[in-house]
Amino acid sequence: MRRGLYLGRFQPYHLGHHQVLKKIAKEVDEIIVGIGSAQKSHEKENPFTAGERVLMVSTALQEFNIKYYVIPIEDIQRNSLWVSHVKSMVPPFEIAYTNNPLVIELFSEAGIEVKQSPLFKRNNYSGTEIRRRMLSGDKWEQFVPEKVVGIIRGINGERRLATIVQSDQVEN
Ligand code: NAD
Repeated sequence: MRRGLYLGRFQPYHLGHHQVLKKIAKEVDEIIVGIGSAQKSHEKENPFTAGERVLMVSTALQEFNIKYYVIPIEDIQRNSLWVSHVKSMVPPFEIAYTNNPLVIELFSEAGIEVKQSPLFKRNNYSGTEIRRRMLSGDKWEQFVPEKVVGIIRGINGERRLATIVQSDQVEN
């Protein structure tokens, strides 16, 4: 039994994440997806709640024939303790998949095998680019799995993002 952990903020979950998970599904017996920065939502860079991101990831993962766990993980103030924090929240795992340099460093220092995954169409399959498109009224739906488009529409995600940005402008 080999479990793999894939960590991300998924603001929102997009086709780049989906391609990576499709590949991971062929390499492990079970997938754990850690929803990072779980405490954050309703911010320009982090519009979606942990629960909404759990829904996006778990709905998208149904497409792959594999057992999976989707678990929110809040940030903590001490990077040196973060791997223990993650391990306390998720089922045991043998390998972590990430391209985030800090996450690679922290897992490697803890003696955990880390595998980097190729980046797919990074210019478009990017949370930053998708949020920019949502705000400017450009099409973003083609960069997100169809079912995730439905979830974002269902929670009025575009309207929320537009409102958050307005309140940012008022405060600054
Ligand atoms: P992310 O959603 O930006 O990315 C998740 C993964 O998807 C990354 O490995 C990224 O490289 C990959 N990815 C993105 N676009 C891709 C594409 N087009 N093709 C293929 N792969 C693509 O999330 P992240 O920033 O990596 O998440 C790390 C989380 O860990 C954050 O929530 C961070 O706060 C948390 N963290 C917390 C602490 C702490 O609390 N002290 C310490 C370290 C990390």
